[in-house]
Amino acid sequence: MNHPAPLPLRPGGPALPRPALSVVVPAYNEQEVLPAFHARIVPVMEAIGLPFEVVYVNDGSRDTTLEIMLRLQATDPRVAVVNLSRNFGKEIALTAGLDHAAASDAVVVIDADLQDPPEVIPELVAAWRRGFDIAYAQRRVREGETWAKKATAAAFYRVMQRIGGRVQLPPNTGDFRLMSRRSLDALLSLREQHRFMKGLFAWVGFPSVAVLYDRAPRAAGTTKWNYWKLWNLSLEGITSFTVGPLKIATYLGFATAVFAAFYAMQLIIRTLIWGNPVAGYPSLLAVVLFFGGVQLMTLGVIGEYLGRIFNETKGRPLYIVERHLPSDAAYRQAISVPSGAQRVAESGTSGASAA
Ligand code: UDP
Ligand code: MG
Repeated sequence: MNHPAPLPLRPGGPALPRPALSVVVPAYNEQEVLPAFHARIVPVMEAIGLPFEVVYVNDGSRDTTLEIMLRLQATDPRVAVVNLSRNFGKEIALTAGLDHAAASDAVVVIDADLQDPPEVIPELVAAWRRGFDIAYAQRRVREGETWAKKATAAAFYRVMQRIGGRVQLPPNTGDFRLMSRRSLDALLSLREQHRFMKGLFAWVGFPSVAVLYDRAPRAAGTTKWNYWKLWNLSLEGITSFTVGPLKIATYLGFATAVFAAFYAMQLIIRTLIWGNPVAGYPSLLAVVLFFGGVQLMTLGVIGEYLGRIFNETKGRPLYIVERHLPSDAAYRQAISVPSGAQRVAESGTSGASAA
């Protein structure tokens, strides 16, 4: 499905020891924070006492993120790097990292910007050791976020809770979580293009538990989200999660039709009793505009779903890997890392043309 530079097969095949834990870190333009992130996650993981790897996914960054990752990978045998051919967006970068996670026991998903404190990971691991397949970190407070973002996030979770039905999204929960190998395998069997990860995590099921933590403001760099992107994420969440809006369109159309019928009846009766002195031009226009609006809206709702069906039917791979450097020192020596010049040329062509 993906076409990384040809890699030699693992000499020992499955006999090579696999790390028990994989930490998957998607990163897009995170040069300011990545070294600090690595310095902070390594002692936390070492303290857990299980063999681990850190899988960095470079999501088509335009800065030196890839160079930093390659440097980390060259100096630390526990680092794996997946370099995508362009910017695919966080949800897909995350999927790419999960696909390449070698862990035999569990994976941890965490943001590179240190907003998800690595110090919570031991608690997630503890919950997993108690027998939970999924331990998700739930935010206690949202520091460093405007009240408007908090309010829109709260409204979004309320709507999702209403329409979610059997599959319920835990509120104030991001992608920061631990998943057991079997729940990860279940998640990876879902290959849809429109990946609303929170919805997919919830759909998979398995015994889950929340671990509360305080979310810190970004350590460095800037958020990649703006309101337009958040709006699109919400649309993605709702349309990939439920066909509820299609029903809303039906009911809205039905309600306006009923209203129009009563309105027309009232008009007829009035005309029969009092005649029709002046033709009601404004009201006519209002009605026409109203129905025009309702029709466009319902068409738009259908279009949202149609567009998603279109994207799914193309059956494209979710992402293209430019390069995959696995963790494991012995194996890594067999792979020749492209020279700096070649690397720049390659990453230069990875511009997000279709992002
Ligand atoms: N990210 C990514 N691809 C993108 C945008 C973001 O891999 O196109 C990564 C980013 O580097 C970070 C994580 O996703 O590690 C969360 O991004 P961000 O901090 O911008 O989002 P927020 O914390 O505001 O939800
Ligand atoms: Mg962030």
